[in-house]
Amino acid sequence: MDSKLKRIGVLTSGGDAPGMNAAVRAVVRTALDRGAEVYAICEGYQGMVDGGDRIREMTWDSVGGILHQGGTIIGTARCAAFRTREGRRRAARNLLERDIEGLIVIGGDGSLTGANIFRQEWPELLAELVEQGEIDQEIADRHPSLAIVGLVGSIDNDMYGTDMTIGADTALHRITAAVDAISSTAASHQRTFVVEVMGRGCGYLALMGALATGADWVLIPESPPNVDNWEERMCQILKAGREAGRRDTIVIVAEGARDRKGEPISSNYVKKVLEERLGEDTRVTILGHVQRGGSPSTFDRNLSTLLGYAAVEEILAATPESEPCLIGMRGNRIVCSPLMDCVKQTRTVADAIAAHDYERAMELRGSSFKAAFRTMRTLVRALPHPPEPGQKQLRLAVMHSGAPAPGMNTAVRAAVRLGLDKGHVMLGVKNGVKGLVAGDIEEMDWMSVNGWATMGGAELGTNRKTPDGSDFYAIARNIEEHRIQGLLIIGGWSGYQTAYRLYCEREDFPTFNIPIICLPATINNNLPGSELSIGADTALNSIMEAVDKIKQSAVASQRCFVVEVMGRHCGYLALMSGLATGAERVYLHEEGVTLNDLQTDLDHLVTGFKQGKRLALMIRNEHANPFYTTAFMAALFEEEGKDLFDVRQAILGHLQQGGDPTPFDRIQATRLAARCIEFLIEEAGKASPAGAFIGLEGGQIRFHNLEDFPRMVDDRYQRPKAQWWMNLRPVARVLAQPGPQAFRKAGPKP
Ligand code: ADP
Repeated sequence: MDSKLKRIGVLTSGGDAPGMNAAVRAVVRTALDRGAEVYAICEGYQGMVDGGDRIREMTWDSVGGILHQGGTIIGTARCAAFRTREGRRRAARNLLERDIEGLIVIGGDGSLTGANIFRQEWPELLAELVEQGEIDQEIADRHPSLAIVGLVGSIDNDMYGTDMTIGADTALHRITAAVDAISSTAASHQRTFVVEVMGRGCGYLALMGALATGADWVLIPESPPNVDNWEERMCQILKAGREAGRRDTIVIVAEGARDRKGEPISSNYVKKVLEERLGEDTRVTILGHVQRGGSPSTFDRNLSTLLGYAAVEEILAATPESEPCLIGMRGNRIVCSPLMDCVKQTRTVADAIAAHDYERAMELRGSSFKAAFRTMRTLVRALPHPPEPGQKQLRLAVMHSGAPAPGMNTAVRAAVRLGLDKGHVMLGVKNGVKGLVAGDIEEMDWMSVNGWATMGGAELGTNRKTPDGSDFYAIARNIEEHRIQGLLIIGGWSGYQTAYRLYCEREDFPTFNIPIICLPATINNNLPGSELSIGADTALNSIMEAVDKIKQSAVASQRCFVVEVMGRHCGYLALMSGLATGAERVYLHEEGVTLNDLQTDLDHLVTGFKQGKRLALMIRNEHANPFYTTAFMAALFEEEGKDLFDVRQAILGHLQQGGDPTPFDRIQATRLAARCIEFLIEEAGKASPAGAFIGLEGGQIRFHNLEDFPRMVDDRYQRPKAQWWMNLRPVARVLAQPGPQAFRKAGPKP
């Protein structure tokens, strides 16, 4: 797409957030690819007011090697001068001098409001500048308007118009790592810790951090404790938790936490309460700025990249009439909304909190925030609610199937506790289908899953066996013997196959006529009806961290790495890790690999290294092509690269299936497990209960009938027929290598 708008500026403003660099990189490279020129405005609005060398032209190379860096390489600032008309007049002159006619602003609601005011005043500022002889009328005529596109950079996740802001996921990574670490020391001494997290007026980080770490209590601004003597209530529950066997107590307090009357609840106050009423040795940890810093998570790198790419498309398509817009992500898709509507809606939450209208504040935060809070309140209970008198008590079984995926334990913990809390008996099946066949089934109680929220691996045991032949008889007998009335299978492809087979055998085995539900848990992300399976986010972060290290190892030489990642025949891990690490090329089975492709890639490598490139990264899915293996590709590039560059291969292997689950995987595992238990309870009462698989689609939790499984998948390659992420391939291609438009002027980093 070519456009009349040829020069754009990009700035980061307000508080910094990890992922801002990825956004700047995507803006610069996409703009160059589209034939536009792009200027970095350094130090936020201050650079725009100051002008001079704070406004610098960017090249392809000036944003090389920054994806993994926290903060923002173009600097950010809070600028008092830009709040004044005189400051904005100077800023306008500085942009006009360089013919910059569009701005991509990456910042919080303050920065975006500033941009909107600037755009509204633009015609008047121009008139003043002409009047005072600072610019020619002809320049003013050339730039009658200023196009504005905003991206939200803020760890707080407090902005309307996007499900996630740039930096929030990374901040959650920091919080979970810190709380996990604190939990282990707290457990050793049986101590109590009060952990204060950031978020200003938004409880997102506190709530999700608490859910992800299995914390025992959380205090957030949007939903203050609903009783006046909340201190007593909190202490009762924490005390009961200790009596039930918990060795540590963690209370997470949002920095903006308050009580019903609007009085702030400080972490020190909570400590005082706990010490006085429980007599516990209590420590306060204020996490502070570590939450803002460090290398961005995979999610933040990819979110920022996609937002930056879309921002350029939007700004190049802008007309003088275009209203400023905000590019965000909703339901896993990039969307564009009117900027000021988003700012206004954001402020209504703050207004609701200020007016003590907490119901409205929770409403405005959205349904998944509310559901997460409800789930959290159940999970923190010391013991389940006793069954209602006369309530039908169900016996529900939980099992795994497939390779281990980080988050499996989290899902089991949530399922067991939520099932128990609703008054049912929860059974754990050991070792997947093998245990179901062998009758290796045990009742699980509240404390049997204590601490599982944060643990990698699969404590119940898992493998890829699926049932056939005489297995069905054995399974039917065990279902009968243990009086199982509902089955939750948390796992991957083999779990779905198992569920489908049991479902199809219902006529021959009437005992299989129970509700069955599959919860997607596999690092491969190759399951139907689910855009993001549990474990994939953790695997991506593991791959990204490994590749970051591999890249660092090659500082002195000219080297090409061929990195092989898992995924079976699904290219999700390869594509998304390629996007997050800046790979030159990603090889997917879905696209195939031809000799011609390899020749073209080799030509690119040779050209790149001749022009001074020091490092190249090729990421290959393990089954991209059965003949052009990783070893083959490495050998081919090595031989043809001659003395220009050398080649190393890295097969990442099982580190991808291990590790403690990321916050995203923990939170989704918990959300999905909650819905699965509700499903089993509801269906168990029916004459012909359904079989289903659950998943996140378009940001919503959806169910599909098990009958649809064969229709939705490519059975030969064990992946869904439609894969949403395939649409992201053009972004990866644009950012990886400069095309003909993106002439490569070597330029220093700002
Ligand atoms: P954030 O963007 O993270 O919300 P701030 O509210 O501090 O951070 O805003 C960052 C900068 O944006 C301010 O220092 C100022 O330069 C500019 N800005 C914020 N609000 C306005 C406004 N109402 N008018 C003009 N500029 C503003």
